[in-house]
Parts: sequence; structure tokens; C-alpha cells
Amino acid sequence: MEKLNNKELKKYKAIFFDFGGTLMCAESDHIAHLHMMKEVIQKYNLSASPEDMVTKYNSFLFTKEMTLLDTDPEEKSFTPLRESTDRAFRGTLSQCNLESSNEDLRWFKKIFLGNHKKYLKLFPETLEIIRQIRNNNSIHIGIISDIDTDFLKFQFDAFGISKLFDSITTSEEVQIYKPKEKIFQVALNKASCQGKESIIVGDSYKKDIVGGKNVGMTTIWINKFQPDNTDTEKADFTVTHLKEISPILKELIK
Ligand SMILES: [Mg+2]
Repeated sequence: MEKLNNKELKKYKAIFFDFGGTLMCAESDHIAHLHMMKEVIQKYNLSASPEDMVTKYNSFLFTKEMTLLDTDPEEKSFTPLRESTDRAFRGTLSQCNLESSNEDLRWFKKIFLGNHKKYLKLFPETLEIIRQIRNNNSIHIGIISDIDTDFLKFQFDAFGISKLFDSITTSEEVQIYKPKEKIFQVALNKASCQGKESIIVGDSYKKDIVGGKNVGMTTIWINKFQPDNTDTEKADFTVTHLKEISPILKELIK
């Protein structure tokens, strides 16, 4: 084991997963957005490419609090994803010199959900890993995600995975984003355990790993995008792909 020796191996009561980029393939989210923008181009007779429209849409999508860019750590601002997506759609249309009515927004909501339901994908090994944990242990399996509760439940129903998880904790529920301590504490309360009795698996070092370690969790970082990052001291384990966590989990929660 990388950083935990035998003496430190603990009896874990809970394991938490981030959703986007950890269990759900982030590339599939991009594909869902491309298809969504194809429908927008068709409806409004636009000449832009889907790729250009997604770039425009993404430029309006996330607040600095969500992305942790230039944020004041004490800032508590939170925006539900549904407001961010409405803002991004309106901003995208306004860049095409179009105004959006309430009817347009209702239509957009429909194609947003429809395309995410159709194109969003879990990683191929996600189900196997969750089922392995579920079959072999009485450990609590939870989700901690910077997302809206209704959207996460909608996607989990679409994937047919709602019953695999004991708890879901979202930023919307807590009104703050990771890595703020409160979202991790709320998740821990649902699992009736302490940070040191739990594991977090996530792809964002700043959100999942720093946030989890701040409440004492054992941290598994899926580092896909920062291979040269050496500032990784809060990660107890670092892998590059979800499938690599299986042997680690076998040791930690056998
Ligand atoms: Mg993520």
C-alpha cells in the first residue's frame, strides 16, 4: 500500500464516490452537449458548428465558485445547476443575437434531460466495482457530488443504479460546493461514521481529495489530467483510472 502501513489499516464503515469524471465518463457529458447543441442549431437555424456552440455554452456554464477559479475560500455562493444551464443557454443564444423566451427555456430543459439520458455513460467498470463492494461488505456506499439532487436522481434512474447507493449528498442539498467541509460532514452523518472511518474516491484533487482529507478520510485520487502534478500530499493513493482502485479496495475493506 502506498501510504498506509498495516498498523494503519482501519475498519472502514463507509466509502464515498464523486460522480462526474469518477463513476460517470466526462467525455460522454461532452457528447451529450454536442447532441444538445445540434438540436439548438436545427431549431434556431444557426450556421455555427456543434463544437463552437458547446464552447460558447460552456463559457457561460460554471461560476468561479463551482470551478474553484479565483475563489475566495470563505465565499459561500452557490448556484443550482439548473440555473447555470438556463444561464448558459440564454447566453449562448444571445451570442447568436437571439432572445430566449420562457417557452425556449422549457424546450431547452427538455432537450437537456433527453440528451443526457441518451448519451451520458458510466465507465465500463463502474457497476462491477460498486457491486463488488456491495457484495463483499456491509460498508455504506455514498455519493458526494457538486450537482443538483433532482438531476442526479434522474441520471441514476436512467442508469438503473439508484439502489446500489445508500446515500447521495449533493451541493444543492448543502448549498455549498466541495471542498467545503459541510458537504463531507453531511455525507458522514448519513453513514453514521467519522471521516477517519471512511474512504473517498474522486477525480478532482482540489475538491474530492483536499476536501476528504480535511475531514480525515482516506483518499483515492483518480488523476487523469494532471500527470505532472507533484503537489499530491493529500492523496493516500493515486491511480489514473477507476479500474485501478479494485486492488486498493480489496486491501482496505477486505
Ligand atoms: Mg468529478
